[in-house]
Amino acid sequence: MQNFSKALLSWFDVHGRHDLPWQQDKTPYRVWVSEIMLQQTQVQTVIPYYERFMTSFPTLQALAEADQESVLAHWAGLGYYARGRNLHKAAQTILQQHQGEFPSDFEAIVALPGIGRSTAGAILSIALQQRYPILDGNVKRVLSRYFAVEGWPGEKTVEAQLWSQAQMLTPLARFDDYTQAIMDLGATLCTRSKPRCDACPVAHGCAALAQGRVAEFPFSKPKKTLPVRRASFLMMLNQQRQLWLTRRPSPGIWGGLWSLPQFESREDLIAALNPSMQTTEDSPASLVKWEEFRHTFSHYHLQIEPHRLDRVQEAPAEWQGQWHDLDKAAQLGLPAPVKKLVEQLEKEDGQNG
Ligand code: SF4
Repeated sequence: MQNFSKALLSWFDVHGRHDLPWQQDKTPYRVWVSEIMLQQTQVQTVIPYYERFMTSFPTLQALAEADQESVLAHWAGLGYYARGRNLHKAAQTILQQHQGEFPSDFEAIVALPGIGRSTAGAILSIALQQRYPILDGNVKRVLSRYFAVEGWPGEKTVEAQLWSQAQMLTPLARFDDYTQAIMDLGATLCTRSKPRCDACPVAHGCAALAQGRVAEFPFSKPKKTLPVRRASFLMMLNQQRQLWLTRRPSPGIWGGLWSLPQFESREDLIAALNPSMQTTEDSPASLVKWEEFRHTFSHYHLQIEPHRLDRVQEAPAEWQGQWHDLDKAAQLGLPAPVKKLVEQLEKEDGQNG
């Protein structure tokens, strides 16, 4: 497998990209911002955004101390704003939990909002010279073809296979160049359509090419698979065994029905809980996560992560909604998954009481 990295690195030395703004002065902060911007966005689009961002927020501290509005204003036009929000949140976490020093171990990096295994691998290999593989969309395509991997790369088992192949191919030195090289290969030669196998440095070992099946890889997503969206639901109870419900806006999914406060993620849910409203003195705030479950709509699955919070004194002042007696709540107009949760709550309370 050393042949793969050797050939790739020799090609990179001559043909790879060496003058991208984030390749200069490679600090974890600079590499991190570039990796987040490059998710779902082309290099050429990212460059001016990256430069403006770095001028306004040249250091991690500057980013952490900026207000969210100004961070998002720098993101306007790039799309996928959760990336910008997470970047800002993560910078604040680093300031608070790591004294402003970007963490240098995998576990701490991957625990930051918006950083998955591949982004963590890119930061560690490019900026910190550690041996970690990456598996972004480009690399998935290259490896699916190189090893003729059958199956959709979004599938857990296929993804696991690609991760172990990525790990195996990573050389024992030049981690930064190797990561950049394999990304460049995917972006410039092993492209989605019309890959340039004639110029490819690893063509000699490519299984898809040898089998004449390059166009088949990577396998596309099976047609019937619906997208999965995530939501965190909050079951907030006060001391009178009343449940906080909010009316869903109409039109929209579940428009006009009573529902539980809903957030995009557990982090958003926690952030929305104003610390001053938490719970009574004698019982400290306790947020209990229930088992996740899935509700399917015609166009997507909603992966629901319910959370229970007891003995709340008051809901945050800005929240729209009202308290309802728990034992009568199931009779209200509730969406099916919410009804299921309310019934489960009643059952659980009945057992405890
Ligand atoms: S030979 Fe073609 S399909 Fe195989 S890795 Fe190279 S560019 Fe991709």
